[in-house]
Amino acid sequence: MDSMPKKVLVTGGTGYIGSHTTVELQQAGYQVVIVDNLSNSTDKIVGQIGQITGRAPAFYQIDLCDEAALRMVFREHPDLAGVIHFAAYKAVGESVELPLKYYHNNLVSLINLLQVMQESRVYNMVFSSSCTVYGQPDTLPVTEQSPIKKAFSPYGNTKQISEEILADVATVSDLKVISLRYFNPIGAHESALIGELPIGIPNNLVPFITQTAIGLRPKIMVFGNDYNTPDGTCIRDYIHVVDLAKAHVVAMQRMLRQNMETYMEFFNLGTGKGTSVLEAINAFEKVSGLKLNFEITKRREGDVDKVWADVAHANGKLGWKAEEGLEEMMLSAWQWEQNLKAGIL
Ligand code: NAD
Repeated sequence: MDSMPKKVLVTGGTGYIGSHTTVELQQAGYQVVIVDNLSNSTDKIVGQIGQITGRAPAFYQIDLCDEAALRMVFREHPDLAGVIHFAAYKAVGESVELPLKYYHNNLVSLINLLQVMQESRVYNMVFSSSCTVYGQPDTLPVTEQSPIKKAFSPYGNTKQISEEILADVATVSDLKVISLRYFNPIGAHESALIGELPIGIPNNLVPFITQTAIGLRPKIMVFGNDYNTPDGTCIRDYIHVVDLAKAHVVAMQRMLRQNMETYMEFFNLGTGKGTSVLEAINAFEKVSGLKLNFEITKRREGDVDKVWADVAHANGKLGWKAEEGLEEMMLSAWQWEQNLKAGIL
């Protein structure tokens, strides 16, 4: 850490990836201010972060669509070095049903944030993007140069439009942006004090696995086994959420040390390794010692066959590399699920 402790605003900081990133930022010596409207998280996470790091971050329960409230936070913290912007709605299926809800929340939030950052002369932003911008890529692994495909869902489209808004603003202002394109974050902090908190039926495989293992669900639904993959199930690049969180710290450091090569940079964040749904279930069974029920059902709308990242750019330029393997990811997710059952929150 450079001499003075730097202060970073983390939007969506009580959420899954935001909470893990706040822990890593604080442990790297940053001060963190969280803004979150708790639409998909709980303020108990602030205390959990405090328990892990020895210091609770500043927390404001504010909706980013409320520009005046956001401005007030920037006034109270005139010394912000940068912003990491996680806050967004992220349920792909729901976005198909309720497109306006997604366009409104994800885009108005971003526009308000950029407006207030500009007024406050805060010029550094790390943005949460997604591998969904690549759709089903023509070649694997996916590099940052792979073409952006038409989005499969309004959610995916909000990520594409957000990247375009950021590029447009950065072109004509002092704004610097690092857009991190996540592959599939899973797992939980090793303390098992924070983790993914799906509300309702999980959209993602790993919460589905752990909720089945703990007895909340009768079986795992495997959506299709007739894909063009070795075992017929979809292949994804699963990355440990703590590895992902660490990449945000490195990205923020890169900005603050003025090491960026251009005003907007993009990095794929994955392990570079593809894992099928059945391989993921097997890995979970191995670390938990449990046998899980699963049922093969029909394909789910909008799922691509296979995708994994080329991580050479992040490895080289960011000097970051994912370290945790699939079994560590599964074990940490399982410990978190058990803690949830024990009433940790
Ligand atoms: P999450 O839902 O756990 O966290 C997002 C947080 O943002 C929540 O705490 C929610 O309450 C908050 N929020 C939403 N709208 C808000 C608003 N208008 N004002 C204030 N707070 C608001 O999700 P996550 O998994 O931590 O994802 C974080 C970011 O990463 C999102 O932008 C998501 O699209 C992106 N992303 C996630 C994944 C994934 O698989 N989890 C993959 C790719 C990209």
